[in-house]
Amino acid sequence: MSELIVRKLVVHCSDTEDGPGQSVEAIRRYHVEHNGWADIGYHFLIERVGDGIVLEPGRPPTQQGAHCRAGGRNHDSLGVCIVGEFDEDPPAPELMRCVLDGLALLAFAFGVAAAEVYGHREFEDAKTCPGRRWNLDVLRAGVYGRLREGLVGGRMVRLDRLNLI
Ligand SMILES: [Zn+2]
Repeated sequence: MSELIVRKLVVHCSDTEDGPGQSVEAIRRYHVEHNGWADIGYHFLIERVGDGIVLEPGRPPTQQGAHCRAGGRNHDSLGVCIVGEFDEDPPAPELMRCVLDGLALLAFAFGVAAAEVYGHREFEDAKTCPGRRWNLDVLRAGVYGRLREGLVGGRMVRLDRLNLI
């Protein structure tokens, strides 16, 4: 696998039921056993675990992912998968807060500007991913707000000094 220079974040959904048994490990197994890939295609995943919602590691972010071949995005972006299905209903507010926190942290860690956060469908017209009901401008505005305020999960981090907004 080639080394990855991260310039964008691309958000996906797993298109699976949001609940027990739809874990990161189940997705990894499917990608490896069914697709024949070396590892799970996404670099990070956000899923419900018990009463909480957590950001979990997938494929190491030093390696190219397998999440968006369109536009060459596997070569310049991290794939972030939200476990769930959002064509019928938009993400619940508590999930959305965690997604925005997670994306702001990743933007912080990898030096990606809020304007460089995309949904998969913005590169592939035939897809609805991360979900028809997911407003991607609202998503970017939410990440931008966290970077500007320097607040992630209600905690202050020095995001304002990163020149990302
Ligand atoms: Zn996708």
